[in-house]
Amino acid sequence: MRDLLPRTWLRLARRTLLRLVDHALPEVCPACGTAGAGLCRRCDQNLVRRGDPPCPRCGELVLAARTRCIADHRDLQRLAWHAAPWRYAGAGGALVRRFKLDGDAAAGRVIARGMADAARLQAGAEWAGAALVPVPLHGARLRQRGFDQTAWLARRLADALDMRCCVGVLARRRATPPQGDPRVGSREANVAGAFLARGVRAVRRRRVVLVDDVFTSGATARECARVLLAAGAREVALLTACRS
Ligand SMILES: [Zn+2]
Ligand SMILES: [Zn+2]
Repeated sequence: MRDLLPRTWLRLARRTLLRLVDHALPEVCPACGTAGAGLCRRCDQNLVRRGDPPCPRCGELVLAARTRCIADHRDLQRLAWHAAPWRYAGAGGALVRRFKLDGDAAAGRVIARGMADAARLQAGAEWAGAALVPVPLHGARLRQRGFDQTAWLARRLADALDMRCCVGVLARRRATPPQGDPRVGSREANVAGAFLARGVRAVRRRRVVLVDDVFTSGATARECARVLLAAGAREVALLTACRS
């Protein structure tokens, strides 16, 4: 109890300081860093946008709403749908890297807006009030980076989409090398059994939207969906910033 107060104050002071610094810095493009407010014209043109109208399952462009998609959707096994506003190639990937590696909140805000727009295009009315569950970072990586970017996005998206933010429902059982690491032979095997569900009551009989930054093979999302469905989730969908 004695040291509870100072610690709370310290946290508050740190957060206020970060916010002040964020506002005091000159405005730059959150993707490339050139001076100016918001995304610069070049980066905006370099955003590789995905479909509108989107396939209701995978989000790729279809000819017209309700026409069939040419993808076989095998990579979306156990997932009701996947929404992502951009491809990783181009400015979408640059935004994710600045957010994830530099902790740039301005990039995070652009990403959250893009993700919310993509989700609105794809999620039917039955997804209102769904639980937003971030794919968790492992403790060691979290300490290294200093902040949890998927939890940060889930908090912002909960406000924008009127969904419930459920941080901590999924946890890592063990550290896994990043999926893009050349030493990783099978992405599927790399994440098998790596996650566990903790706050089961938050997802039981409910629709869950997983939040992650990039969809590459989908192995992580499929494994998280397996764990959530086993914990009683009604349906699981996926929302990311980019698709490779
Ligand atoms: Zn730019
Ligand atoms: Zn599709």
